[in-house]
Amino acid sequence: MDNKRQIVRDNYARIASGIAEAAAKSGRKPEDIAFMAVTKTVDPVLVNEAIDCGIQLLGENRVQEWQGKKDAYRAGVPVDFIGALQSNKVKYLMGQIRLIHSVDRMSLAQEIDRQAEKHGLVQDILLEVNIGGEASKSGIAPSELPALLAQVGTLPNVNVKGLMTIPPPCSDTRYLEAMEELFLRTKESDPERMQILSMGMSDDYAAAIEHGSNLVRVGSALFGARDYSKTK
Ligand SMILES: *Cc1c(COP(=O)(O)O)cnc(C)c1O
Repeated sequence: MDNKRQIVRDNYARIASGIAEAAAKSGRKPEDIAFMAVTKTVDPVLVNEAIDCGIQLLGENRVQEWQGKKDAYRAGVPVDFIGALQSNKVKYLMGQIRLIHSVDRMSLAQEIDRQAEKHGLVQDILLEVNIGGEASKSGIAPSELPALLAQVGTLPNVNVKGLMTIPPPCSDTRYLEAMEELFLRTKESDPERMQILSMGMSDDYAAAIEHGSNLVRVGSALFGARDYSKTK
C-alpha cells in the first residue's frame, strides 16, 4: 500500500502541473480549474492520500459504494455525485453532496427538488449532455437543453450551475469543441446558471481545459487502473 500511496502522490503532482499548464494556455489560473478525484473502486486509504496532496473535490458514482466508504475519508473535502442516479436514491444524497452532475431528465430534477425541500435546502446540479449522441450513454441531446433548462428553472429547490458531459473516446477534439460551443452559446443567454463546465477525464483533461472546462474528473490517471472485482 505504501508503494501505491507514493504512486498517487506522483500522479497527483503530474496531473496538477498538467492542469496548470492547460489553464495557462487558455488564459486562466490553475485555481480556476477544479481537480476532482473520481473514487469508484478506490481504497479509501488512497483517496485520503489524494486529499493529503491537496485534492479539492471527490466524485462518487454509486450511492451504495460511497455510503460504505465515506466515513473512512478524511473530512473537509466536498463530495460531488457524478454517476447515473435513480430517483429513489436521491434522498440519500441530501445535505451531503455539493453538486449532482448527472441530471438528465425532468423527473429526476423534480425528485431532487422534492427531497431538497424536505431537507430545507437548495441542491446545486448540472445538466448532463450526451454530446456524442451515443445510444449507450445517458444525458440529453444538445437540442433538448433549452427546454430542460426552462423546466428545471421552475423548481424552487434546485439550482442549475452548468453542464456536464462524457464525450465519446475520440482521437480528435471535435466533441470537446462542440461542448465548448454549446456551453458558451447557452451562457450568452443564461450567464447566471452557466458557471461550471464539467468535462475531461484521465485521457483528455488537458484538452478539455483548453476547450473551456473548469472542472475535470480524474480517476485512473490518479489512482491507477480500476479493479472492479473488489467492489459490488
Ligand atoms: C469513472 C468516471 C470518470 C473518471 O474516469 P477516468 O477515465 O478513470 O479518469 C469521470 N467521470 C465519470 C462520470 C466517471 O464515471
